[in-house]
Amino acid sequence: MDQGLKIIRRLVFINILIKPHKKFFSQRRMSYDIDYETFTFYKKYRRIQVQDSTEPFLVDHWIVYIEPKESSLINSIIKSEFKESANSLRHLKRFLKAKKNDRDLLKVLICACDQINQEELEKILFGPLKRSRIEKVKAPLNKPFDKELNAEWSAKYWPIVWKGNPMIQELNESYKQFCEQKVHGYLKLISDLSRTSKGLPVVTIFVDPSTDQIMAQKFDLRDSSDIMRHSIMNCIGEIAKNELQRRQARPDPSAPTNYLCLNYHVYTTHEPCTMCAMALLHSRIGRLIYIKDSKRTGAIGVESGNKYMLHLSCSLNWKFESFKYIGDEFDVADIDPQINV
Ligand SMILES: [Zn+2]
Repeated sequence: MDQGLKIIRRLVFINILIKPHKKFFSQRRMSYDIDYETFTFYKKYRRIQVQDSTEPFLVDHWIVYIEPKESSLINSIIKSEFKESANSLRHLKRFLKAKKNDRDLLKVLICACDQINQEELEKILFGPLKRSRIEKVKAPLNKPFDKELNAEWSAKYWPIVWKGNPMIQELNESYKQFCEQKVHGYLKLISDLSRTSKGLPVVTIFVDPSTDQIMAQKFDLRDSSDIMRHSIMNCIGEIAKNELQRRQARPDPSAPTNYLCLNYHVYTTHEPCTMCAMALLHSRIGRLIYIKDSKRTGAIGVESGNKYMLHLSCSLNWKFESFKYIGDEFDVADIDPQINV
């Protein structure tokens, strides 16, 4: 047989052999300890998420037209003034070529409209930028399930970055940021502390992952005089108090005024209630890990409470990752299922 034909047949054969197992091969090659069916890392940490949707969740966003030479200027404005929107806009293209009155311009996506009103946005942009014009566009807050849908939504609304199956991509990215050793240490700390509690066995710690510093560590302190003193609320209160003291002691008008807990990691013994989950969203945390479900009152788990899954709520312009610990090393005491944690 002709040598070339032999090689082609062999390649076709190898392709047929490998193709059905492509997913298997690609996952093995990465050697990540991820169960892609149950979204679980290291067999112990289940990421609380849903499959990517087939319907776009459209939200109004501000865009601005600029001269191409102003692109580095707008980049630095976005970095300093709209830092907190980077997370929720990561899947969208930021810069697009545009033509206005025969002039080559760029269209730049700034942020969701509910984040800032037009007047305030104009104040920020119109000083440094020449001849800029602001408009509203609809862009999806969620990522499409497959490449075809990605192309469809990109053509219809605003271009979306395609980096392969978004769910696998997101799990891989999340896994790369997940330091099991540190997570294990913090979970051990809260489960040990939980046993020493004089009230409800609920403990929370807030960690700044950029410095590994524990920013707050609090028990649940509710009593008849104040029923709102849930451990998460106490942590946020503590961080706010410390930040206020820092600002009063060392006033620095040029210091960035970020959200209080921007991208912090939160470790808590029991799944938070709706109030605490909303407080976590508003303080812009990056990740939550809890040990025990609050099946009746929780606002995070797929089956918890009213199935809010607040950390992924598309109607709000921030999301954070959430994990439930499913290993058997740490356990914390049950509490009355009626109690909002
Ligand atoms: Zn609560």
